[in-house]
Amino acid sequence: MIDNVEHVHCLIIGSGPAGYTAAIYAARADMHPVMYEGIQPGGQLTTTTDVENYPGYPDGVMGPQMMEDFKKQAARFGTDIRFGIITEADLSARPFTVKADDGKTLKADTLIIATGATAKYLGLESEERFMGAGVSACATCDGFFYRGKDVVVVGGGDTAAEEASYLAKLCRKVHLVHRRDELRASKAMQKRVLNTPNIELHWNCVVKEIVGTEEGFNKAVTGVIIENVKTGESKKLGVDGYFSAIGHKPNSDLFKGVLEMNETGYLITKPDSTETNIPGVFACGDVQDWKYRQAVTAAGSGCMAALEAERFLAALE
Ligand code: NAP
Repeated sequence: MIDNVEHVHCLIIGSGPAGYTAAIYAARADMHPVMYEGIQPGGQLTTTTDVENYPGYPDGVMGPQMMEDFKKQAARFGTDIRFGIITEADLSARPFTVKADDGKTLKADTLIIATGATAKYLGLESEERFMGAGVSACATCDGFFYRGKDVVVVGGGDTAAEEASYLAKLCRKVHLVHRRDELRASKAMQKRVLNTPNIELHWNCVVKEIVGTEEGFNKAVTGVIIENVKTGESKKLGVDGYFSAIGHKPNSDLFKGVLEMNETGYLITKPDSTETNIPGVFACGDVQDWKYRQAVTAAGSGCMAALEAERFLAALE
């Protein structure tokens, strides 16, 4: 290291399942990866409770614990894990020049972007209050806890349609609350939603508040208050769960105008690969996956990114 400039073979940005898996593979391949954990160390799973669908945990595991396990495994093979965020990235020449908020400038031979995505919420205070206690943004993760119960899904796009359809198989009833009088979702998804008998649509309605019980740390959702924007009428839907499905924001702002991304900001990778439009820059996990968004698929793509980075370096040599 000269002054504050450090040369690294493999720089990983982000510390969710994709980032840690990339780190495990890169470290075991002697690439001496350096990881900057990002704004939310451990990623989205640190805001969930039980994870029951990640293979290898037969009794389930708490999201934060699982990410601790990932971290320990990445550290065991020598990943240099740093608490901090990357603030600037110049990808115009290799090694890439990247600045971190700890004042360091890094020259990276390869860059693995695993910055994830953030689920959008309406921004209600009650959403925050019941987060993880009846409020979720992931039906595949949390739907199981609402078997035989009634839930609300808010949104009108493909995510909302998909979440509502998934939940309809588990729940007694799904109330789909949408602010307009038509869905944005694809025609096929709309058809599925409209033909599912236990999905009730509440058109032109907005969620005003989530209500529930609170006894110390024991919190539970008991209902959602919605208002019809055309009539002004409001009513309470008695439910145990509330799912926000108004979209995700991929954490790709740092690479705007440099890396190819779709209109929502998801980084575009080559088919069956984690390669971006810049050789040596790889993207894995939710920052490039609007479709599956699962911990296990993110981990899989993190593995791919490390293998591809390793091959890229080998080819250079
Ligand atoms: P989206 O298409 O942007 O839809 C977001 C939905 O949430 C819209 O219906 C929007 O209402 C509503 N919404 C946004 N902000 C809101 C607010 N503050 N209050 C109330 N409602 C609000 O997002 P998405 O459904 O996550 O889909 C993102 C992309 O991924 C799309 O290109 C989609 O096709 C794709 N996707 C595909 C699949 C699949 O093919 N299997 C699955 C999921 C997602 P308005 O309609 O009124 O704007």
